[in-house]
Amino acid sequence: MGKKGQLYVFTGPSGTGKGTILGQVLERDKNVFLSVSATTRAPRGEEQDGVHYYFLTHEAFKEKIKQGAFLEYAQYVGNYYGTLEAPVDQQLAQGRDVVLEIEVQGAMQIHNKRPDAVMVFVAPPSMDELERRLRGRGTESDEKVQGRLQTARQEMGFANRFDYIITNDRLENAVADLLAVLAAERCRNRDKIDK
Ligand code: 5GP
Repeated sequence: MGKKGQLYVFTGPSGTGKGTILGQVLERDKNVFLSVSATTRAPRGEEQDGVHYYFLTHEAFKEKIKQGAFLEYAQYVGNYYGTLEAPVDQQLAQGRDVVLEIEVQGAMQIHNKRPDAVMVFVAPPSMDELERRLRGRGTESDEKVQGRLQTARQEMGFANRFDYIITNDRLENAVADLLAVLAAERCRNRDKIDK
């Protein structure tokens, strides 16, 4: 059988631009596939079932938890989010690299369950800048923004557990950094003998 694919975890506080970075990287690197998560939150805008997420009811999500179908799952702002294990493993078995774009609690579960996963954290240039970006969206109340900032501070506390930390100061640099991580990991000698 051929070489197995590599699993990547891409995490960072809300507002750091991780979705934008990943979107650009996936357009340029056709050898890495984004895992489609399941969630109980309602679809937003143009989101389609099976493309952006698998949209499940709370009951259906809980049933899948019971069945042990999730590689990881977490509750985030009142909804469940989770990665289905079977499709990820199918892709990896076919030699494809897979990336999970998930929040920190789920990332830590993957870190424990799959120690070979490459863990990437996206950080804002500063907390002040993150606050400016979150307020700049102009779509949320002050209370919601404060809530996100509070979560972001807690999430930043986990950054040191990651293999790579990418600071999203300028989008094009962050995209280049993530492409470089993928390139470096593909060259890594995983059979290295320590003498
Ligand atoms: P949103 O509702 O904005 O799409 O996502 C909210 C948060 O949930 C984001 O930080 C996103 O990365 C995270 N998320 C999306 N899918 C998953 C998943 O399968 N597992 C976990 N743990 N978090 C996820």
